[in-house]
Amino acid sequence: MALYVQKFGGTSVGSLERIEAVADRIARGARGGDQIVVVLSAMAGETNRLLQLAHQVSADPDPRELDMLMSTGEQISISLMAMALQKRGLKAQALLGDQAQVLTDARHGKARIKEVATDKLNGLLAQQVIPIVAGFQGRTNEGELTTLGRGGSDTTAVAIAAALKADECQIYTDVDGVYTTDPRVEPKARKMDAITFEEMMELSSLGAKVLQIRSVEYAGRYNVPLRVLSSFAPGEGTLIMYDQVNGNAPLVSGIAFNRDEASLTLVGVPDEASVAAQILTPISDAGIEVDMIVHTTTVAGKADFTFTVHRNDFSQAKSLLAPVAQRLGAQHVKSDNSLCKVSVVGVGMKNHSGVASRMFQTLGQEGINVQLISTSEIKISVAIAEKYLELAVRSLHSAFNLAADE
Ligand code: ADP
Ligand code: ASP
Ligand code: MG
Repeated sequence: MALYVQKFGGTSVGSLERIEAVADRIARGARGGDQIVVVLSAMAGETNRLLQLAHQVSADPDPRELDMLMSTGEQISISLMAMALQKRGLKAQALLGDQAQVLTDARHGKARIKEVATDKLNGLLAQQVIPIVAGFQGRTNEGELTTLGRGGSDTTAVAIAAALKADECQIYTDVDGVYTTDPRVEPKARKMDAITFEEMMELSSLGAKVLQIRSVEYAGRYNVPLRVLSSFAPGEGTLIMYDQVNGNAPLVSGIAFNRDEASLTLVGVPDEASVAAQILTPISDAGIEVDMIVHTTTVAGKADFTFTVHRNDFSQAKSLLAPVAQRLGAQHVKSDNSLCKVSVVGVGMKNHSGVASRMFQTLGQEGINVQLISTSEIKISVAIAEKYLELAVRSLHSAFNLAADE
């Protein structure tokens, strides 16, 4: 008897019709003899609606109360799903994160799962009851409710699969697997049957929201068999592979992007090693994550220092920089909050050169100016003006022969 954790995202449970369709799918599996633990997101649009409500009441809502509100979306979908399964003659029980014993740290809005205690879930499974768990939420040791950050239901599912040692964690969504890039931006994108864990980590961390990055990290830590599939159509989806790959991996296997980048440049600061720390310490002390960093020497003794942050952190970062710029005697601070980041990813890059040159050539031919570059062993990222995002993704997709028919 196989044990599956099956997670269904917002669109997959976005209407009563969709909930009924998903209930049919779960019922088929359960009647076929599988043990299933279900994890659900809130119905599509619900979490955004709740967030908007909060911001209508307060510009800066208290993180604890925001979690109290944001976590309610999942309570609706899980209870409806339990009813839909019971109507089909199956035993099912909806569980909030707390009831399912999902324990997290205390960082409201971005809590990390520390542990899932299994006695409750195992107890239900032993009685042939299908647990329907609210994704995206947990509780602290002190009994406080927390949420895991947007897209966090993926991580709930993986953490439960790890704790129960499930045969597979199946992430059902509105696309039928992981594609070479977001099929909404490049309709020619190709579905992959399998992807290496390493590549999936890069794609997720560089913006491909099909799997929340933390779910991939968690899966890697516990070696959870992980698959992305469609809740709308049949198919095998995409398997995340842990074993290293065939020798002839493509140079580039996917393209990810992130729209919400912003850059800040201190022009004309002293060209000294300590300057980076002086600039970045107040930023990181404020909990702002810095992504790309470039330091360029301009004239003798002077340098420009540029870094990027998420657009939500842009104005805070800018005000934190003003006193630093003054102290360092910078000529001025340049800023741009209309950037995006496009990244090409592939394990095949490890042993081959030429990806960077092809990437810059392609962007150059389209007249796209590259503002910042960062690389690792298996990825190259560029920051460009956001208006060029679609053009960049499509031309790189074609230049690296990623399309189905190329
Ligand atoms: P869910 O609500 O099921 O969690 P998400 O919206 O979080 O779904 O993630 C699925 C979406 O991820 C797809 O609709 C697609 O637009 C987007 N996406 C981005 N990059 C990729 C990719 N490389 N492969 C597949 N989907 C991707
Ligand atoms: N409902 C949450 C969100 O919209 C969590 C999730 O869907 O994974 O981010
Ligand atoms: Mg998601």
